[in-house]
Amino acid sequence: MSSPSLPPIAANLERVRERMARAALQAGRDPAAVTLVAVTKTHPPAYAAAAIAAGQYDIGENRPEEAWAKYGDRTQPELAGMRLHLIGTVQSRKAAIALACQPVLIHSIDRLKIARKLSELAQAQGRVLDVLFEVNISGEATKAGFGPDALRQALPELLSLPGLRSHGLMTIPPWDPDPEKARPYFRALRRLRDALIQEYPEADWSQLSIGMSDDFEVAIAEGATLVRVGTAIFGPRR
Ligand SMILES: *Cc1c(COP(=O)(O)O)cnc(C)c1O
Repeated sequence: MSSPSLPPIAANLERVRERMARAALQAGRDPAAVTLVAVTKTHPPAYAAAAIAAGQYDIGENRPEEAWAKYGDRTQPELAGMRLHLIGTVQSRKAAIALACQPVLIHSIDRLKIARKLSELAQAQGRVLDVLFEVNISGEATKAGFGPDALRQALPELLSLPGLRSHGLMTIPPWDPDPEKARPYFRALRRLRDALIQEYPEADWSQLSIGMSDDFEVAIAEGATLVRVGTAIFGPRR
C-alpha cells in the first residue's frame, strides 16, 4: 500500500509471523498448525486490504455491525479472498447481521440464547455456522463466556443445534502486562478442552483460540491453534 497514513502492516505481519513460528518450534509444534487472525477493529478497510495484499487473509472483527459495514461487500478486489472471523459477543439483535457477514468462524458463542438464535437463523438459510464456545475461564464478573460448569451443562444442547458446528474453545485471560500471567488461564482452557474430548468424542475440539498481541507466544506454547492479533500488526486503536 502506498498511502503514507498506513502503518507498516506488511513488515509488522512478517515480524508477528516470525515470532509465531519461533514460538511454535520452541514448543515442538508445527508452525503451520497455528493460524493468525489479524484483528482490524476500529481501523478502516484499507488496513485489511494492506494485510490481504501481504497474504494475510484471516481477518477478525469483534462487532458484527462494524464487520458488516466494512466487509459486508467483499466483491471489491482488495478484499477478495478474505476469511472473516467474528471474535466478539454477538448481541441477539445483531445475530442476523453476524450471519450476513458470512464469517468463516465465530469464536465467541458465549451463551445458550445466542447459540439457539444463530442456529435457527442459519438453519432457515440452509447453512451451518462454524463456531467456538467462549469460556470465562478466569471467572471475572465482567467477562463474557460460559463458566466451565455452565458450559458442561449447556453442551448437550449446544452440540445438538442443527445450525451450528463446533470446533473448540476460546478465552480471553484477565489483562496483565506480563504475558506469563496469562499462561495458567490458557492451560486451564486446554485442560478443559482435553476433558471435553473424552466426554464428547464425537465433537470436534481441535481449535483453541487463545492469544493476543501481548501474549500470543505464551498461547502458542500452551496449544493455541488460532491467535487473534490486532495492535502488533495495525498499531494502536483510535
Ligand atoms: C481486539 C481483540 C483482539 C486483539 O487485541 P490486540 O491486543 O490488539 O492484539 C483479540 N481478541 C479479541 C476478542 C478482541 O476483541
